[in-house]
Amino acid sequence: MTVYPARPALFIDGHWLSGEGRATHQVVNPATGETLAELPLATTADLDAALDAAARGYTLWRATSVDEKAAVLAGAARLLRDRADIIAATATLEQGKPLAEARGEVAYTAALVDFYAGEVRRNYGRVLVRPAGQRSLVVHEPVGPALALCPWNFPILNPARKLAPALAAGCSMIIKPPEEAPGSACLVLQCFIDAGLPAQVASMVFGVPDMVSRRLIASPIIRKISFTGSVPVGKHLMRLAADGAKRTTMELGGHAPVIVWGDCDFEKAITMASAFKWRNAGQVCVSPTRMIVHEAIADRFAAALAERAKALTVGPGLDAATQMGPLANPRRPAAMESLIDDALAHGGTLLAGGARVGSAGNFWAPTVLADVPLSARLMNEEPFGPVATVQRVASLDEAIAEANRLPFGLAAYLFTENARTANIFADAIEAGMVGINTMGMSAVDAPFGGVKDSGHGSEDGPEGMRAFQVVKAIHQH
Ligand code: NAD
Repeated sequence: MTVYPARPALFIDGHWLSGEGRATHQVVNPATGETLAELPLATTADLDAALDAAARGYTLWRATSVDEKAAVLAGAARLLRDRADIIAATATLEQGKPLAEARGEVAYTAALVDFYAGEVRRNYGRVLVRPAGQRSLVVHEPVGPALALCPWNFPILNPARKLAPALAAGCSMIIKPPEEAPGSACLVLQCFIDAGLPAQVASMVFGVPDMVSRRLIASPIIRKISFTGSVPVGKHLMRLAADGAKRTTMELGGHAPVIVWGDCDFEKAITMASAFKWRNAGQVCVSPTRMIVHEAIADRFAAALAERAKALTVGPGLDAATQMGPLANPRRPAAMESLIDDALAHGGTLLAGGARVGSAGNFWAPTVLADVPLSARLMNEEPFGPVATVQRVASLDEAIAEANRLPFGLAAYLFTENARTANIFADAIEAGMVGINTMGMSAVDAPFGGVKDSGHGSEDGPEGMRAFQVVKAIHQH
């Protein structure tokens, strides 16, 4: 039995709470199936206590000085780095990703929290040009107590990606991390508390997601909902938010196209596609999935992608040799099986993987399929797993039309050495993030978010803080 360093619990109004007759959820190691912890689930009384704390915390934090806010954020970033080993091991145990990836996630999270420590001071508004003696100002104020609903794929980053900008903006927050990977979020929150965040400013609850989201979104105390997850759940939460005219940020996933053009640096394209496709076993909203390749190099590209997929070491995330871990929960291999069977039934060609690995844990072999007809579900539904498809196209217009075909619009990638091709693509593609000869989409100072069904609003960068603010125009004569 592996030692799980976290003891996940509810954090409400300054107290870590568990037991006391609360129902529990078993936290399971996806590499082995063993139970890591019993997670307490919030009762309605717990949620009401968290709301009460958020209301008081908002009054307090809003009035807290810029210096103090910045110091808390900078201190939390330092503690994240100090505690990187334990936080990363927790994420690997409960979510499955290789330890090196979990360490990278801690490092990015700390850098992002540091960015918001600086952003506290950069909350600039505008002074409008007016006749002498008159003033008109535009200022940015906190939106109020906010609710963060986080998924399991980045259990360290996601809670911090919502909490840090909310705090920089002056908001209090209730966070509901995923019940499946709760320990990382608890350790992240502890860094903020230990850095001096007044306890009532941030609460953390776990529970039955539908019960939790309905009760918290219905409360007049909550003024903003920030959700990362699937499109259907996001649309459902938007409907709940509409009843209270509440603002939302929705990061809802994608089905990222990758156009690989005939004039690309082939080695760079194949190396990058291989590195980013299998990261976190493909359970990444910007994961490159639909390789749309010029017909002149399509067979070569498909063969190279398959060859590299077959060479990957799949295993438990704590093993140093592991390059790809298990999927996070039993729903994911089941989803892979169903999507890939359907793609093969439609006439797709299997070039690598296509099956479970081993008999314990949620392992799935890195899978590459070629020439899957567009009528197959895989070409339309976000797979959120270790599968890539290769399609062949003859013209750039055809490639861009195929890239834009789906209702998603999160990340899109192009590999070309031709600047004109790059410009045409960047202008025509319907996506919130575009990578040209790169697949690195996360940068602390750049907005991360999508268009169309992939959601609205952005995280990270100055936009991430603006998401937790309202504007006020002040006119003085
Ligand atoms: P799901 O739709 O059941 O859940 C997605 C997330 O929403 C989970 O974190 C879950 O706890 C939460 N959730 C579900 N119902 C909720 C409710 N009524 N109120 C509040 N939160 C609720 O899907 P899943 O099986 O957990 O994940 C698979 C799918 O989720 C993927 O296909 C992918 O599209 C999506 N996803 C996207 C991201 C992303 O980064 N955009 C991250 C994780 C999952």
